[in-house]
Amino acid sequence: MHLSRRDALLGTLALMTLPAARSAPEAALSPRDLHVPGGVARLSLGPAAHRPQARTLEDVPLLVLGDAIEWSALVGIPLSAQPGEARVRVLHENRSARELPYVIASKHYREQQLKVAPGQVDLSADDMARYERERVHLQGVMATFSEPPPQGDLRMQVPVPGRRSSSFGLRRVFNGEKRNPHSGMDIAAATGTPVKAPMAGRVIDTGHYFFNGGTVWLDHGGGLLTMYCHLSAIDVKAGEMVKAGERFCAVGATGRVTGPHLHWSVVLNRAMVDPGLFL
Ligand code: ZN
Repeated sequence: MHLSRRDALLGTLALMTLPAARSAPEAALSPRDLHVPGGVARLSLGPAAHRPQARTLEDVPLLVLGDAIEWSALVGIPLSAQPGEARVRVLHENRSARELPYVIASKHYREQQLKVAPGQVDLSADDMARYERERVHLQGVMATFSEPPPQGDLRMQVPVPGRRSSSFGLRRVFNGEKRNPHSGMDIAAATGTPVKAPMAGRVIDTGHYFFNGGTVWLDHGGGLLTMYCHLSAIDVKAGEMVKAGERFCAVGATGRVTGPHLHWSVVLNRAMVDPGLFL
């Protein structure tokens, strides 16, 4: 029964041209479909016997979910993306690649003006060299794309109970100079509070970094990664698996911070997206 329906769908597929991307109908699925900078676009790729591949125009592989009846690409939209039409490239087995357009709406993120003593903003030459080395290393970590992709719903559990700031995307201006926007969620919690994995994953990096302090990265497959910063304790090593809900590190105030909290980032196809969309 199932097979014949699939075969019928695939038969008609060869004859028709697929329309421009539309949102998949399952509104209750996680992450929430939000086509703005810092959001996630869920693009319908239609039916196909085998999982299609999808990539950004910069050739970054995208997470593709679903089954033969309906495949979807989940596209992390960087905070730096320009509103307007964007495209992804889709490749089905035995068919030529096609481009799928979608529209990114604009979103206004709040701006925070901060005045600090000049010495606190400008790094020393040594600190600058260290930061540059770490930046290159972290870019490599962020490029991780592993198989298999996660299955089905991507709902995450909050890693730490506590007051969640809504500061994702906040544009920070230090002494009139624009800095990178805030690319994660801050959760207020005391030093030592256990951090629990919001979904199952593999540890791909741990370390102590200049800005981020004690840090752990988890890989959930298909380019979906999560990062935890300012930790006081790290209980895992790269290569280990953690289960959903398992403690793997603890909240702290390490790195460049003013007080203890968890900084939590979610990365999809190398773009930092709003973790709130996955809760
Ligand atoms: Zn933060």
